[in-house]
Amino acid sequence: KKITIALVGRPNVGKSSLFNRLIKKRKAIVDATPGVTRDRLYGEMEWEGKTLTIIDTGGFLPPDEATPILPQVIIQCQKAIVEADVIIFMTDVRTGLTPIDVEIMKYLRKTQKPVLCAVNKVDGEKQLQDLSEFYALGVEKIWPISAIHGHGIYELIEEALTLV
Ligand code: GDP
Ligand code: MG
Repeated sequence: KKITIALVGRPNVGKSSLFNRLIKKRKAIVDATPGVTRDRLYGEMEWEGKTLTIIDTGGFLPPDEATPILPQVIIQCQKAIVEADVIIFMTDVRTGLTPIDVEIMKYLRKTQKPVLCAVNKVDGEKQLQDLSEFYALGVEKIWPISAIHGHGIYELIEEALTLV
């Protein structure tokens, strides 16, 4: 059986960076400007003899668009939930927990699909001290990762596969 993992979260948390790292191609556009990914992207990766499909979500409107971000993210989540076996919900330790993150988690909690909460941009020791606020999401465990440096990615994917 093919396994599909979707990356969801508000713009700029690092979904496309993680996607590119996992599929080992620069397929997704990574930009410091929130909302630069134009559409959903599908990539394949080999993982211990299995082929995994990764979905990078975030086909958002241009950054100057007046439409609130949350409905856009929820639409992406809905599509991801239909297609994915496991959802990786990404947040960002540098910005900290935001009200949009809390709303996304509320939405994801209602779904049947397993959700893992990853806190990205934990590049070093310093950021480890800033993780506790993310437990306010009401999750049992958070997964600190660095999409740029690769920290925590192995553990995250291994855990995702146990939930399929
Ligand atoms: P997306 O909007 O969720 O797809 O986020 P992107 O992947 O486009 O990344 C947004 C910004 O965060 C870019 O400037 C990335 O270089 C940066 N970024 C992504 N992952 C990391 C990370 O692990 N550490 C740090 N410090 N920056 C990151
Ligand atoms: Mg993106």
